[in-house]
Amino acid sequence: MSPAEEVSGIQAARGMRDSLPPATINLARIESAARERFSLFGYREIRTPVLEPLSLFQRALGQSTDIVEKEMFTLQDRGERALCLRPEGTAGVVRSYIENAFDKTMAIPKLYYIGPMFRAERPQAGRYREFNQIGSEYFGNESPASDAETIQLAAEILRASGLDQFEIRLNSLGCAACRSQYKKVLLEFLKGVEQHLCEDCRKRIQKNPLRALDCKTDKEKLKDAPQTLQTLCADCKTHHEDLQNLLSLAEIPFQISPQLVRGLDYYTRTVFEVYPAGKTGSQDALAAGGRYDGLVEELGGPKAPAVGFAMGIERVMNALEHSKTQASEERKGIFVIALGKEAIPQSFRILTELRGNGLEAEGVLNQQSIKSQMRLADSLGKRFCLIV
Ligand code: AMP
Repeated sequence: MSPAEEVSGIQAARGMRDSLPPATINLARIESAARERFSLFGYREIRTPVLEPLSLFQRALGQSTDIVEKEMFTLQDRGERALCLRPEGTAGVVRSYIENAFDKTMAIPKLYYIGPMFRAERPQAGRYREFNQIGSEYFGNESPASDAETIQLAAEILRASGLDQFEIRLNSLGCAACRSQYKKVLLEFLKGVEQHLCEDCRKRIQKNPLRALDCKTDKEKLKDAPQTLQTLCADCKTHHEDLQNLLSLAEIPFQISPQLVRGLDYYTRTVFEVYPAGKTGSQDALAAGGRYDGLVEELGGPKAPAVGFAMGIERVMNALEHSKTQASEERKGIFVIALGKEAIPQSFRILTELRGNGLEAEGVLNQQSIKSQMRLADSLGKRFCLIV
């Protein structure tokens, strides 16, 4: 194939999409609503690299998670180091926390990020190979108040983006001790029903029994599985109850979802997911998060409890489209119409002045007829026309 032929046939890579206007306007709007809320809550922005060492995710997320097993875009750099396009944000932020000793340099390490994530999933509605997440991480605080703040922040960002109808589902996985207790009971149950389970779940029994609870195929067969809440120790139980009281205090509605386990290994105690009202499909989830008290230490850092969430911006945009609560665009800005060649310098000067004064101003200044320029102004949603 000649280079010209190659170029003429080029399309976006499988599962990759262009974000085009006007979608980009909604994207930016959600991002700026998030920035505003983060700032009110005292979070500061962190930007970590899109490429990270592959081993970071293998260690942080766990070898037997779907992401690590089959969804990572990996590559080698010229020094043959194994890298990976980040599939999520938390691992990179934790790496940076350790590398830059935020425990010593920040009074309260509360960070947020906004950016693209990459997962080689089968592309389908609501599931993209490149998608954007807004997320936060709150380090060094084990109080349930920091869990409550994280959930409150996610809810407020959704509301500030124009979405009011959503449901928060909450569960607790307990600490390492509760979890190993839970694994025992779960394993016993799974062994009892093993012959009825799908092949994936039978493998999970060996490698990571908790993951079976996430299975879409066996959901019905596992509905009587033991629940993590049944094996919580006294401290984890209190944490879970205190969190619920704080959420009620802040008038944040939630429901307890005893089957919610989340797909990653690093979660301890609180886990939560947010769905558009009445939707339950995993490709609908708007946001998800939880506490990960052991991860910083596991990656070689100091002992530091932490809690965070990640929200899928495209999912929020899809939900807004369905809920039709999007405010209709108000007409705004000025369109400068230049009639004839002589009007161009004057119109250019006016445009410069308007923009210089912070007003949205547009003009093509290319000698089109007044009719076609008026049409343009209309289709751009301008409020005023200024005819020169
Ligand atoms: P997770 O890291 O899997 O808990 O995802 C957190 C949030 O990111 C989800 O609740 C979704 O809103 C969003 N998300 C995850 N995977 C995708 C994807 N493949 N495409 C679009 N959004 C996604």
